Amino acid sequence: MDHAAMQAEIRRLAKEKGAVILAHNYQRPEVQDVADFVGDSLGLSRQAAATTANMTVFCGVHFMAETAAILAPERPVILPDEEAGCPMADMVDVAGLEELKAEHPGAVVITYVNSSADVKAISDICCTSANAVDIIRSVPADKEIIFTPDRNLGTWAAQKAGRWVTVWPGFCPTHGLIGVDDVEKARLAHPGAKVVVHPECETDVVALADAVESTSGMIRFCQKDDSKEYIIGTELGMIHRLQKDCPGKTFHPLTQLTVCPNMKLITLEKVLKALQKEGPVVSVPEEVRVKALRAVQRMVEVGA
Ligand code: SF4
Repeated sequence: MDHAAMQAEIRRLAKEKGAVILAHNYQRPEVQDVADFVGDSLGLSRQAAATTANMTVFCGVHFMAETAAILAPERPVILPDEEAGCPMADMVDVAGLEELKAEHPGAVVITYVNSSADVKAISDICCTSANAVDIIRSVPADKEIIFTPDRNLGTWAAQKAGRWVTVWPGFCPTHGLIGVDDVEKARLAHPGAKVVVHPECETDVVALADAVESTSGMIRFCQKDDSKEYIIGTELGMIHRLQKDCPGKTFHPLTQLTVCPNMKLITLEKVLKALQKEGPVVSVPEEVRVKALRAVQRMVEVGA
């Protein structure tokens, strides 16, 4: 079956089974194109919470499907490849975070949504890159803050919010592939183009950018901005989304290296098979889910 035939069969099956298909902005273009909704973690979480579908097919990585299961436990959440994880999420664990919390008694723990349900369950509030600054600002000024697991997002968001935070030393290996020399080379190759990067990039790369935006923020920024050409520093799947949402503008990846191997595990074949089998289903033990829900709900409620 070619892509078009597979997409048609996926849409037919989704309708028959009452399934909603959600896809992250980093998914393969053909997977984005078959989804009901394409977005960032925050937008997809809101969709997962609001949908009245019978089941959710989540084209993304494991923590995203888990978050959907935390928000809407009555609805099966299907992740087309169970191996699609996130190395950054794996960099923080319950024992380590408990230790850090003990060293900073009374600190408010802000956990990036790129984390396991177990870690969310011992956090006070979650955030995404779209609302990390607002979440930090929502913490009373006299409270200490621990930010986990992304050191780069935590450092950038704290600076923007004018706060001091203790950051966990996690990072995204894919965004970590972007170096300062890539920015310099891209500016030489595309003079006049604006450099827009994701806050998961290393802080020396972030310092050189014209704008630092979450994936949803990138779309809004490029739609409103006067320039016609941009150099984009994030996972390559984002270029497809920007080209669709900003017609008439040109987007260059900062480097061709930023391919998240986990995001790319989801293929049309696997989406079709997942719909046929109604699995694999991602679930969260109820006692963990209830604890994690409070932190996730607060994230969904704070503005994007
Ligand atoms: S791009 Fe980075 S943070 Fe996002 S899923 Fe891949 S490894 Fe995790």
